[in-house]
Amino acid sequence: MQVVRTVAETRAALWALRAGQGTVGFVPTMGALHEGHLSLVRAAKAGCGVVVASIFVNPTQFGPNEDFAKYPRTFEADCALLEAEGVDVVFAPQVEEMYPEGAATFVEVEGISDRLDGVSRPGHFRGVATVVAKLFHIVQPDRAYFGQKDAAQVAVLRRMVRELHFPLELVACPTVREADGLAMSSRNRYLSAEERQQALVLKRALDAITEKYAAGERDAAALREAGLRVIAQEPAAKLDYLKLVSPLTLEDVQHAEGETLVAIAAWVGATRLIDNVVIGSRV
Ligand code: AMP
Repeated sequence: MQVVRTVAETRAALWALRAGQGTVGFVPTMGALHEGHLSLVRAAKAGCGVVVASIFVNPTQFGPNEDFAKYPRTFEADCALLEAEGVDVVFAPQVEEMYPEGAATFVEVEGISDRLDGVSRPGHFRGVATVVAKLFHIVQPDRAYFGQKDAAQVAVLRRMVRELHFPLELVACPTVREADGLAMSSRNRYLSAEERQQALVLKRALDAITEKYAAGERDAAALREAGLRVIAQEPAAKLDYLKLVSPLTLEDVQHAEGETLVAIAAWVGATRLIDNVVIGSRV
């Protein structure tokens, strides 16, 4: 496995690999890797001859009072995990490599970027779209793998790929969970043992909505109410949002008729967690 730090090194490494082994699969990450990330790597390995992962804690997607400085950085352990999965190239740039001094070019997917996490994290999706566009230009993958755990991110990036004509397929992979249902996240390591238990309320709320949907309820307000009742039982959790939206546009739906994204974000102590499920089927 090659670990490369610069754009030039990455292009050189991939030029040789691409010629020999065909399709390039790409898994962008911020490191602090867990089984969720590794599931993306495995999907990429299964579908592509060459697999590239990136490890970059992207400053532009963090707000001024967010956890950029304390975001977990576990580079050596991450590389060992990626090597064991058979990754070919790890791109791990410094901030200056991705954002040269005075960088003023950003990618904004208007409208959709202001929904879900975009409301409480203004500028977050602008930072995500910008860094992913840069990474796509550098790596030039045939397929790029993202987690459904960040469903709004998937929606924003699908729009960006379509509208900026990136010649790649964006593959969304299912959310990987701990045995008790908690969605895996690099931020879970911030949680104390007590908070780790309290955090289960997010999944319980989503389960309550899924059950009510399965029982025949289609009214979005009634479904949401079922989730809110569960959240109310865990006073340690402070709800940011619980929404039923279109998975493509992230716009609120009134009725869960077709495929509906149920997305939740809540604070448990000082940690902001997100989770989601999709209910209904494609019409
Ligand atoms: P991050 O390092 O948090 O930026 O995540 C890198 C990629 O891994 C993103 O596409 C995430 O959606 C994905 N990811 C994070 N957690 C999970 C999970 N529990 N299951 C599946 N994918 C995940």
